[in-house]
Amino acid sequence: MNGSISISTQENSRICPVLCIVVPCFNEEAALEETAACLEACLSHLELKGNIAASSSIIFIDDGSTDATWKSIEAISRHSSRVQGIRLAHNSGHQNALLAGLEYADADAVITIDADLQDDVGAISKMVAAYCEGAEVVYGVRDCRDTDTRFKRITAQGFYHCMRFLGVNVIFNHADFRLMSRRAITALLRYPEVNIFLRAMVPMLGFHSAIVTYSRSRRLVGESKYTPLRMLSFALTGITSFSLRPLRLITIVGFVVAAMAALVGLWAGVAALTGSASTPGWASLLLVISFLGGAQLFAIGVVGEYVGRIYLETKRRPRYEVEAFSGVAYNKVKLDRLRE
Ligand code: UDP
Ligand code: MG
Repeated sequence: MNGSISISTQENSRICPVLCIVVPCFNEEAALEETAACLEACLSHLELKGNIAASSSIIFIDDGSTDATWKSIEAISRHSSRVQGIRLAHNSGHQNALLAGLEYADADAVITIDADLQDDVGAISKMVAAYCEGAEVVYGVRDCRDTDTRFKRITAQGFYHCMRFLGVNVIFNHADFRLMSRRAITALLRYPEVNIFLRAMVPMLGFHSAIVTYSRSRRLVGESKYTPLRMLSFALTGITSFSLRPLRLITIVGFVVAAMAALVGLWAGVAALTGSASTPGWASLLLVISFLGGAQLFAIGVVGEYVGRIYLETKRRPRYEVEAFSGVAYNKVKLDRLRE
């Protein structure tokens, strides 16, 4: 009997799911009002068409902003029963803010989208349709990168190629605009790591997925929170969390260099014995020594990246800390969890 109830509930959730949109925000005061209005209009439209349940909602995660973002979220959630807010106690990073939203969202399906609305809100209905047809994960994939700066385009594409080369399964031109079903979220939340890279973690789950392509617009207000240094750190987290190939490559390179050194040593020995050795040039010697010194430092650095992340993992620090909630419809169970 229980089984039949759960099956029919599941079927209902595929027909008219409760949808939650999770929006991470870090110093996004300039964008919030318009973003909230746009997402609310989108939910109302989908609800009117009977595509999602009336209790569908939006959660803004304030990732420790230092501007008026939280005040704005509080004001918006006061006026709209659909909108809830969670303020993290400090800036925990985009990925952790997304994870907080996924953990707190009480819905059949959750869509994550950036606060600057660069991602196309129009694609949300297609994502819901794909979910209703059975997809557990729906990836928003950019159809082109025309709106990126040259620097961003080259580094981003290089990164995707690099990840593929290192054997990591990432969806090309997909960032964090995606829909996840309750089942996929439950599976994701079983991953306990603190170095989070959702773009590779979600494909790793391996559920039935679909792709929705969309055009990404330019950021209209505020500025990108991903400085080149942050992008580099994010890329390193992605690589070191999912691939051991850099370590293997170092081993192979070390082996090849050692083999070459042995061959050169053999040649030098033969040359000395046959008396054909000429005075070696100091420049080439210096070049080889400094090259090998640099290569060794690089190799130590790569190993250090892994060791550093092991260090972070072993500490098991919480991935984020919640400071406050806002919004009338807030789920009591979760508030109780906070008080524990
Ligand atoms: N973000 C966040 N915490 C951070 C950095 C960014 O929650 O530490 C949010 C940000 O407010 C935005 C999303 O993550 O909603 C993506 O950031 P951004 O638009 O700056 O990235 P870009 O589109 O330039 O890659
Ligand atoms: Mg953006």
